[in-house]
Amino acid sequence: MKVTEKQVLDALATIADPERGADIVSLGMVSGIAIRDGNVAFAIEVEPERGQRLEPLRKSAERAVDALPGVLSVTAVLTAQAAPRGRAAAPQPPPRGAHPAAHAAARPQRGAIAGVGAIIAVASGKGGVGKSTVAANLALGLKANGLRVGVLDADIYGPSMPRMLGISGRPRSRDGKTLQPMENFGIEVMSMGFLVPEDTPMIWRGPMVMSALQQMLREVEWGELDIMVVDMPPGTGDAQLTMAQQVPLAGAVIVSTPQDIALLDARKGLNMFRKVDVPVLGIIENMSYFLCPHCGGRSEIFSHGGARREAQQLGTEFLGEVPLDLAIRETSDSGRPITISDPDNPYAAVFRQIAARVWEKVSGESALRPPPRIVIE
Ligand code: ADP
Repeated sequence: MKVTEKQVLDALATIADPERGADIVSLGMVSGIAIRDGNVAFAIEVEPERGQRLEPLRKSAERAVDALPGVLSVTAVLTAQAAPRGRAAAPQPPPRGAHPAAHAAARPQRGAIAGVGAIIAVASGKGGVGKSTVAANLALGLKANGLRVGVLDADIYGPSMPRMLGISGRPRSRDGKTLQPMENFGIEVMSMGFLVPEDTPMIWRGPMVMSALQQMLREVEWGELDIMVVDMPPGTGDAQLTMAQQVPLAGAVIVSTPQDIALLDARKGLNMFRKVDVPVLGIIENMSYFLCPHCGGRSEIFSHGGARREAQQLGTEFLGEVPLDLAIRETSDSGRPITISDPDNPYAAVFRQIAARVWEKVSGESALRPPPRIVIE
């Protein structure tokens, strides 16, 4: 039986905050509900000073959800409630139609990561649109343009960066506290996939989604990076919203297929980032058209060009289009994305161009660095 978010919220609405005399859902304390194959995870936001005292509340919340039919595992974490920023000191009413969890998730909770310049998210309205393929190629494009690049695979339910970037093995720790990122093609990478095998269904006990993300961000020796590319989990639900606000993002790139545009999924992605004040850097149309390798004919399977029009209508930039191409699929699925394995391929050039534009937008400078000056004494 499939567990729904509503069932989870209904179960959590039976749990009262003993100190505030109302249930945790109507108090807006529940956020980041993630449900995957019967594995449920969510966060309960509490003031930091109440954290320790509320452990029994966390346990009761887990038990209440665990009792639902179809639930295989439940992980609840207490997360510290961020102080409201700026003028928004008074709680804002939730947007019409949003449940309290969405409201709770909209509170920004950000802090920069030492040594890391800009952090950008690569996101999509739904899975299977090539978000990870684009994230990997974008990261390699940034690297090819001379930048120091890190990749954080935040798609913790279906991490694909280890496979796409051809990295296996486990990260090491020098001090027993922080992990060293893995590396390939000159970029640093951290992914839940290094810690849990890709084919193991992820059952989140203990540290769950949000704390795993925080650890991968903050307890990894990233060193000095110009830019970090975060491969977000697909979709635009509360979990993504919470993630978007947990990471100090400079901007977000939305990946979309033409048919996904038609279904308005990309629009939801855009709105999600706007809700948490993260600038949307633009839209990339993936699987935009198909060039037949045999006859050279061009087929626009999913009515190509929708993203360009949609971007215009939504007031965001159209960053580029990537065709449905066998070489793109084969290279990304075999751990040598086209941008690194075949830099002369026109699609590798497309990714470098998109990378250059993204860097220009977040840094205000051109990504193509001038060659080093040779001084003859
Ligand atoms: P997502 O991260 O959105 O779930 P992936 O990046 O994992 O999607 O891509 C899903 C599948 O589609 C992968 O097998 C990938 O190689 C393939 N794919 C992605 N983009 C393209 C493309 N432009 N041309 C051909 N295959 C692609």
